[in-house]
Amino acid sequence: MKILVINAGSSSLKYQLIDAESETLLAKGVCERIGIGGKFTYKPQLEGKQQVKAVDVLMPTHNEAIQTVLDALVDPVNGVISSMDEIGAVGHRVVHGGKKFGESCLIDDMCIAAIKECIPLGPLHNPANLMGIEACTKCMPDKPQVAVFDTAFHQTMPPKAYLYAIPYEYYENDDVRRYGFHGTSHKYVSGRCIDLLGNPEHSKIICCHLGNGSSLSACVDGKSIDTTMGLSPLAGLPMGTRSGDIDPTILEYLSDRYGYSLKEMIEILNKKSGVLALSEVSSDFRDLEDASWHHGNERAQLALDKFHYEVRKYIGAYAAAMGGVDAIVFTAGVGENGPETRAAICEGLDFMGVKICEKRNFERADEHLISTDDSKVKVFVIATNEELMIARDTYRLVTRR
Ligand code: ADP
Repeated sequence: MKILVINAGSSSLKYQLIDAESETLLAKGVCERIGIGGKFTYKPQLEGKQQVKAVDVLMPTHNEAIQTVLDALVDPVNGVISSMDEIGAVGHRVVHGGKKFGESCLIDDMCIAAIKECIPLGPLHNPANLMGIEACTKCMPDKPQVAVFDTAFHQTMPPKAYLYAIPYEYYENDDVRRYGFHGTSHKYVSGRCIDLLGNPEHSKIICCHLGNGSSLSACVDGKSIDTTMGLSPLAGLPMGTRSGDIDPTILEYLSDRYGYSLKEMIEILNKKSGVLALSEVSSDFRDLEDASWHHGNERAQLALDKFHYEVRKYIGAYAAAMGGVDAIVFTAGVGENGPETRAAICEGLDFMGVKICEKRNFERADEHLISTDDSKVKVFVIATNEELMIARDTYRLVTRR
């Protein structure tokens, strides 16, 4: 069965078509500038098929975007399937599942209502995810659809990890708690790490998902027991443009001084902070490294230092929370591609048995060990694959019906 995996944002929509039985990728791409024009890219993975590189296609809504994707997939020349009948189901990334979803869910009216109820918790993402679902319902009314939540994997956290120390009624009445995100990625890489460790009965793993958005998770026996993001993805580590944890009093202090509304302050913390703000160079780690290494930009180096320091601090915190650590995993854009970042984060962690092998760290592979043979803690780089996880869950749920 072929599964269409959709990750819908407000003006973009990423897609992959995956053969669920063989777990092979057949095609992928992205629709961008939805609602303000439309750009379409298509990368078939079969030999002899031509790519479509960023062509203009008018996409006033997500409906036209989905239709454009489907047309490309069944295109007689460059398509990868002969008809729509080959698509068995659609799997959607949904960012916020609140406390309702500890698992993926077949999409029906109740599921949609529950995703809508989570909009106040995920106002930036859930409405866009719903637009993707609605567009697929419109273009493929007969296909079953599944929602896979970024928050689901972290639903195993104990109350002491997910509760904030604020009046309990805000948890009881308003669902204010830590939810955590990137769950599909943390689940995938922690699962792969357990495989690579030889499937031990017990395991303590720290997953470092370091990309534009970054989060760490502490996983005991394959279950998340803590994570750095919170009610929203703004919490935890400093990121590309997000501040991560700050003293909340800063909000009042700056809004008093500059007359910012709360909304404006949150916008600053989401979009104008993080390594972008510290460096005033870029939110992109490649640009920061280039500015620091090749142009001696001290603020770029400061931003990198801050990032490495905060990741290292959380690694220490999670090792303490779990009473030890068997493995640390690096994943996502920076985690997979930044050997210098990995080395800088792990610097000084030899006291807890982390020893990086310089040679291994600079080798490239989708999955590899980068610690020395005598390192007590194994350190791995594991390329994340959230789309495959979504395809797996979708396949499992639709074939179980
Ligand atoms: P997102 O959170 O948007 O999914 P990614 O996981 O794709 O982000 O990560 C994007 C980040 O990864 C960018 O900051 C980018 O600079 C960084 N990155 C990608 N390739 C490299 C590389 N070769 N070296 C260092 N950083 C890299």
